[in-house]
Amino acid sequence: MEKFQWAQARTLEEVQEQVTATTSQLTSGQKTTDTSIIKAGGVDLLDLMKEGLATPEKMIDIKAIPGFKTSTYDAKKGLKIGAGVTLSMLQKQKEVKEHYVALYEAISHAATPQIRNMATIGGNMAQRTRCWYFRSEDHQCKKKGGAVCFAQTGQNDIHAIYNTSICPCVHSSSIATALMAFHAEVEYLDQKGKVQTVLLTDFFTPPEVDVTRENILKPKEIITAITIPVPSSDTKSYYIKQGARESYDWALADVAVALEIKGNTCKKAAIVLGAAAPIPFRATEAEGFLLNKTIDEDMAIKAAEMVLQKATPLSGNSYKIPMFKAIIKNCILKTIS
Ligand SMILES: Cc1cc2nc3c(=O)[nH]c(=O)nc-3n(C[C@H](O)[C@H](O)[C@H](O)COP(=O)(O)OP(=O)(O)OC[C@H]3O[C@@H](n4cnc5c(N)ncnc54)[C@H](O)[C@@H]3O)c2cc1C
Repeated sequence: MEKFQWAQARTLEEVQEQVTATTSQLTSGQKTTDTSIIKAGGVDLLDLMKEGLATPEKMIDIKAIPGFKTSTYDAKKGLKIGAGVTLSMLQKQKEVKEHYVALYEAISHAATPQIRNMATIGGNMAQRTRCWYFRSEDHQCKKKGGAVCFAQTGQNDIHAIYNTSICPCVHSSSIATALMAFHAEVEYLDQKGKVQTVLLTDFFTPPEVDVTRENILKPKEIITAITIPVPSSDTKSYYIKQGARESYDWALADVAVALEIKGNTCKKAAIVLGAAAPIPFRATEAEGFLLNKTIDEDMAIKAAEMVLQKATPLSGNSYKIPMFKAIIKNCILKTIS
């Protein structure tokens, strides 16, 4: 690892004064000098540095910024999670388990207790993909400013089954899968120091917009909070993650479902797939199909079939199709059990 400077920021202004780059600029070679970047828990950032993919001259630690480690629940406004709140803090917050079951399940199945103690919600949203070609110093892939996507013809078992033509890496955040099912928003400070709010769906950047990055953040822009509206009292949600083993790892397939159900009739639906596409994938067609339907096993199977109809798996990952079908069905059925 190269030598680097480390600074503890006390205010957002200090962060904006000192930060000059994003990790995607570093990993794609767009910025090679004057590279000062944001560090939160450091879980992903330090990995990138150890892997030789990012060599920032300076990192600005944002964990001590007032309010960053606070998560509050308001019965009208919902949940506001400061960007520096760790996954383990969220896991312990009673309102998360009470009102956002899918989110609670996603957090409980992410990484390990030790990593969850370090990992912040802001850093989790901005973490980079775990595509093994991107993470390998020896492969100058499109994400790193190269011309080739090695996953297209190489080992692509963990990759996407939708939107695979430019770069089939999948977004690594399983927390985002659940947050999207609750229509979460990202609050961030833009380059001019103004607070902006964007739906999580619009926060992520697909490869056709810019293959070198996964979100909209520009240098100096800081996630300050994630907000989630209060789900109606009829909303039931669930989340299932399937990994390669019953241990810590990123998902091979994960699904979050939030259904508003009156009687057994579905009045609103959100179905989100993680590890399926370069950004978390909202199954809007199946969501529409479930509206005003009685939710039972037959309907859950039909919705799952519909979601996977348009999948375009690569040579090594068609196993994801039955896997997703099963977990979508099971998530839907969990909401009525
Ligand atoms: C073994 C292992 C298993 C894992 N399993 C899972 C899993 O199952 N599910 C899952 O979701 N994750 C998983 N992770 C990933 C882990 O949760 C993330 O690496 C972690 O959440 C990143 O958060 P951090 O605070 O450490 O971010 P950092 O590493 O500090 O930062 C990550 C990136 O975000 C930027 N950043 C950080 N905070 C902000 C901010 N407030 N505003 C703007 N930019 C910011 C940094 O510049 C950097 O580019 C796993 C990690 C490991 C090592």
